[in-house]
Amino acid sequence: MSISNSIRLTLNIKDPNITFDTNCIHELQIKGVLSLVYSAKLSPPTPNACPHCGVVNQDFSIIKNGSKFVTVKMPRVSNRRTFLRLKKQRYLCKHCNHSFSAQTPLTEYRHSISKNTYMASLLDAKNKISIKDISRRHDISHGTLNHWIHQLNQHFKVNHKTLPKHLSFDEFSSVKSVHHKMSFIYMDASNGNVLDILQDRRLSFLKSYFFRFPLEVREQVETVCIDMYEPYIQLIRSCFPNAKIITDRFHIVQHINRALNYTRIHVMKHNPKYYARLKRYWKLILKDASSLDHHHYRKFTGYKYLMTESQVIDDLLRLSQEFESTYWLCQHLKQAIKHKNTTLLSDLMNRPNSHVAESMKGVLKTFKKQENYIINALTYPYSNGKLEGTNNLIKVIKRIAFGYRDFHNFRSRILLISNTMIHLEIKKPSSYFYDDGTDSKYVGLSHQH
Ligand SMILES: [Zn+2]
Repeated sequence: MSISNSIRLTLNIKDPNITFDTNCIHELQIKGVLSLVYSAKLSPPTPNACPHCGVVNQDFSIIKNGSKFVTVKMPRVSNRRTFLRLKKQRYLCKHCNHSFSAQTPLTEYRHSISKNTYMASLLDAKNKISIKDISRRHDISHGTLNHWIHQLNQHFKVNHKTLPKHLSFDEFSSVKSVHHKMSFIYMDASNGNVLDILQDRRLSFLKSYFFRFPLEVREQVETVCIDMYEPYIQLIRSCFPNAKIITDRFHIVQHINRALNYTRIHVMKHNPKYYARLKRYWKLILKDASSLDHHHYRKFTGYKYLMTESQVIDDLLRLSQEFESTYWLCQHLKQAIKHKNTTLLSDLMNRPNSHVAESMKGVLKTFKKQENYIINALTYPYSNGKLEGTNNLIKVIKRIAFGYRDFHNFRSRILLISNTMIHLEIKKPSSYFYDDGTDSKYVGLSHQH
């Protein structure tokens, strides 16, 4: 293999018109950093036609006309900054008197950063690292990288001709500029693919968004899984006529736990002697009663004698009748949900519950209003579990970026990291002489996290 081919292979240059000579690699100071500089020549065969006037090259109407140097930013070689100093052939069209230079698919038209650098940095953007770290790793400015990520928004197109049978809706705390800082996200509940991220979660906005899907598409939706946010119910009723509403299991349990926690804090405030113990053993109180340890005696802070877990719970429940009945109601509700026992669940919800704490009464009232949807949660296998996973990811993205100001940048980063496949159409360089056929690439198929 010739020197030229070997270097092309190491730098991953596909353009056969770029050639290297021996002694073409130098160490040079570029912007104060000692960098590797490869010198090369770009001289494709004289073009068939002029890109300005379109006249066909006959009888030397287009002639070679000197050359010019451009410096192209390449991906790092051996972890050193690397540049390609390219000597580009220039041509003159005698018909229109315009001159122009040879083009290469190595970079976009009039860009000085190679496509390989572009792809490599966008692939890095799929990982949970900050834009600043990626730009440092690839020696590009973070403004450039943000611009590229912003541009991806255009490539992410929602297909209005289809919707999956099972949807899952949720919201997440977004950037400051959007209404109430909350944005909307929805995904395919069966496989966890994020379908879109919308900046607003208000009913009118969501309605106009979903009405863009034709009715026959919306009719195909069979179930929608939601948290207990009421406007979603109205949204589903008006947009998805055939969809069954499912309240997310995790949110139901979350409501129950929250009510139990409020009750515990209430008891804490009225029993100063037990304050520390009620505070310390909050986890034990939320723990499934059937999995409490009855056998092993051990030391519990605040107690003189060795105790078992269930003895500690018994001791705490003695403090208040209201606390005890709330505790057991919560335990039974959670048991019914865990074992998908719909009769027990509706029985518990509709039983007179005058002796439980106020916070629990409020929760029961909401549950009764959404009883059918809660029962659906036990009969259908769908939940927002996958979506909650994505929401945790969103929190991580926000943290590594120290917050986002622009919603669209935030959105494309989420779509990139959550592995929603994005088809990156790399703009064709306006090359009249050369096309290697590799101007579109998929980012996102082979990457797992
Ligand atoms: Zn011309």
